[in-house]
Amino acid sequence: MKIIMKFGGTSVADGKKLRHVAELVKGYQDKDYQIVVVTSALGGVTDAILEEAHKASKDGEVSRVKEFIADLTKQHHTATREAVGNNSNVEDIIARLDARIEEIEKALTGICYLGELTLRSIDYLSSYGERMAAPILSGAIGSLGVESSHFTGGEIGIITDDNFGSAYPLESSYKNIKKHLSPLLPGTIPVVAGFIGEDEHGIITTLGRGGSDFTASIIGASLNADEIWLWKEVPGIMTTDPKLVPEARPLEVISYIEAMEMSFFGAKVLHPKAIEPAIRHDIPVRVKNTFEPEYPGTLIVKEQKTVRNVVKAVTVIDKVALVNISGAGMVGTIGVAARAFSALANAGVNIIMISQGSSEANLSVVVDDEHLKPAVKALKQEFRNGVVGEIDHDVHISVVAIVGVGMAGTPGVAGKVFDALGQNKVNVIMISQGSSQHNISFVVKEGDAAKAVQLLHKVFSLEKL
Ligand code: ADP
Ligand code: ASP
Ligand code: MG
Repeated sequence: MKIIMKFGGTSVADGKKLRHVAELVKGYQDKDYQIVVVTSALGGVTDAILEEAHKASKDGEVSRVKEFIADLTKQHHTATREAVGNNSNVEDIIARLDARIEEIEKALTGICYLGELTLRSIDYLSSYGERMAAPILSGAIGSLGVESSHFTGGEIGIITDDNFGSAYPLESSYKNIKKHLSPLLPGTIPVVAGFIGEDEHGIITTLGRGGSDFTASIIGASLNADEIWLWKEVPGIMTTDPKLVPEARPLEVISYIEAMEMSFFGAKVLHPKAIEPAIRHDIPVRVKNTFEPEYPGTLIVKEQKTVRNVVKAVTVIDKVALVNISGAGMVGTIGVAARAFSALANAGVNIIMISQGSSEANLSVVVDDEHLKPAVKALKQEFRNGVVGEIDHDVHISVVAIVGVGMAGTPGVAGKVFDALGQNKVNVIMISQGSSQHNISFVVKEGDAAKAVQLLHKVFSLEKL
């Protein structure tokens, strides 16, 4: 069995957990699995680096950067000593980490003086979490007597476009990865830093937050692995976020489409692009709990043989905004939607949901919070000479969605959803259903989102799955 195993931030949060992961991996190696490990940054490190970078660009306080660097150093040194033990490699690893930390300090100090933080420098800085985790985890595996080496994304040939913050791998990456990693298997366990790649000029890029899932899947497709395993702190992909509904249940099997819809509609358990490379070679993806490895977790496959439940999961997207354009002049005027969407696309706005009333007097779109300003600006500019009467927006909203491929062709699902919401006085602001009928999504006030999720989880008896 050739398995790509990715460990998320919580799984490698500190030295003890890193050690546990190393032992887990060795256990599978002992059973003759061929393994490539992909690691996230130690839990919270990416967030902490980004927060410090933003602060540095605003207030330029070099003394706080020094404090931050001291904390980061201590955290990684402690983790290394705990994970690797009193092994002769420890000092090598520590020296390597210190070199990385010095680079972070230089970059942050530079940002303090310049007062500027570009997308490119954000990617450069946020890559360090994974670049420090990989040598520690590889050292921990090595200390158990297993041959291991560590790499960055660029070092194994993950070459991306230069869309910093959400870079996409070029097709050549798949061949490069195979060339770099294949000769190492089965003797060595390569540990690859997730989340990062390089553009064609060797500049570091990142694949988007939570991107280590995507790295694992890209490697899985390159090596035509038997399975891709994503190890997390949850027992699998669940019927909804267990933080919102404690009764949420892990799903035994779901289809690629359902997993993609769930991640697109806000289930933070999976990076939205992580399934795409697996589909290329029809590779099953498993989501497992690092701390309960004996449980099977969730298996994500092309098609599920028997579908017990029409609705499988409820998801929610926060930090979004609604933009509404309206006016009597829109009725019967051809091309308003086309103009609106091309203006939004030219402004780099990511559209999450679209709805147009059949009266044609208004058009609503949901966008990421951070895209609200450019969206409104682009629409105002496009329609400055009339046709559209008003452009207004609302930031205090959330998108809730129900997902399940069994919904296609099953009547009455939407009725059940909106009946329940109506009876419980949850006001629905906007509704959308794709023609694939794999989801129904709707907008509610931010404050109503948790209630809507809890209600629908019950209405579809998901706690009994
Ligand atoms: P990783 O360790 O790979 O970074 P994440 O922390 O990104 O894993 O994913 C697990 C988190 O996703 C959990 O903390 C959980 O609260 C959240 N989550 C949201 N929706 C779901 C869902 N449907 N199933 C499982 N977890 C979910
Ligand atoms: N460390 C990155 C993040 O926090 C990537 C990942 O964990 O997958 O977003
Ligand atoms: Mg994650």
